Amino acid sequence: MKSDLLITGVSQLVTAEGAEAKHGRAMSALKVVNDAAMAVVDGRIAWVGRASDWTGDAGATVDVGGAAVVPGFIDPHTHAVWAGDRLADFEARAAGATYEEILAAGGGIRSTVKATAAATREELVALAKPRIDALMRSGATTIEVKSGYGFSIAGEIAMLEAIDVLAAGSRMRGGATLLATLLIHLPPVDAADRRGYVEQVCGELIPVAARRGLASAVDVFVEREAWNVDEAEQIFACAKQRGLRIKLHSDQFHSVGGVELGVRLGALSVDHLEATGEEQIVMLAGSKTIGTIVPGVSLHLGIPAAPGRKLIDAGAAVAVGTDLNPGSSPLYSSAAALALAVRMNGLTAQEALVAGTVNAACALGLVDRGRLEAGCVADFLVLDSGDWRDLIYTMGANPVREVWVGGRKVGA
Ligand SMILES: [Zn+2]
Repeated sequence: MKSDLLITGVSQLVTAEGAEAKHGRAMSALKVVNDAAMAVVDGRIAWVGRASDWTGDAGATVDVGGAAVVPGFIDPHTHAVWAGDRLADFEARAAGATYEEILAAGGGIRSTVKATAAATREELVALAKPRIDALMRSGATTIEVKSGYGFSIAGEIAMLEAIDVLAAGSRMRGGATLLATLLIHLPPVDAADRRGYVEQVCGELIPVAARRGLASAVDVFVEREAWNVDEAEQIFACAKQRGLRIKLHSDQFHSVGGVELGVRLGALSVDHLEATGEEQIVMLAGSKTIGTIVPGVSLHLGIPAAPGRKLIDAGAAVAVGTDLNPGSSPLYSSAAALALAVRMNGLTAQEALVAGTVNAACALGLVDRGRLEAGCVADFLVLDSGDWRDLIYTMGANPVREVWVGGRKVGA
């Protein structure tokens, strides 16, 4: 074989095998190749094996000096585009203020909506770029970014356009792949306006987003204080009609039927699950829908952690994301999200790596990444250690030394 690039000097090459989502016990099955090498052709992985088994020619060889190599992370859930900040909220909460008191003082999510609506598209792009860069440095080579702070049809389109500009810029620089999701986040404050907004979403927002290719999925926040199951189902019917995939913010504070709806409609994923009970766990485990957990939220807000251990024991496929956002998860590291999933949600190191790679890819409907196998995009990480477990063990320092996208080192 003639390859463009050969990566050698790999102490351990660690990957899940097969494009399908890993459920239950299959989440523990990783392939570890010691003293490995990996060949890349046209930005894709062409061969993986023990270095001593390589018999081809390589245009260039890069020796990573005894480091471990894992697939680039897929961050399947972020809100990386926003304006304003929630520093005053955080300070007030740390001093004992309640959620209601913070809202009454003009803080909370509505303050993010207001600041985001007031920002230009260029400002939103400039604010989001360093956040995307931080996620990428922490190992994320594919990042989902949601709209949802626009709070009006024009505001949501402006957010999707900002994500589109960010995605194009990242592509040009050889950085992470960005995937946009249209999030229908909070309903209008006045209950009388809810129906009209759903009609606008279905009649205008989704068709425009689909026609212009501004989103690949539609997400709805199903919660007592947000949208109910009937409204979400109406929105999802429109999304499906336009060929968009669906996902849900579900069971964050209360279990109000979001998981049931997601499973029934064949959603790619139901995300959050902090308030998910036994019944929903069984239902999810019996489905193809992925349960995406976001431990940063539990850490930051002090709410119960999603039952990651129970989900996997029941046979579900679990993914992990940062949920990077200003209000509930200012977590700028995809590697840290995996480390937290072990400590807070009871995953093993092996399960966390699968949750942040192949399962997270499946949560976005992607089959060509999240693994180091022939045919996949050559997105991989060179760790700052010869033992891949340092990835999950390390807290505070970045365990990722080099990020490679499409067979090229980022920033090189
Ligand atoms: Zn979220």
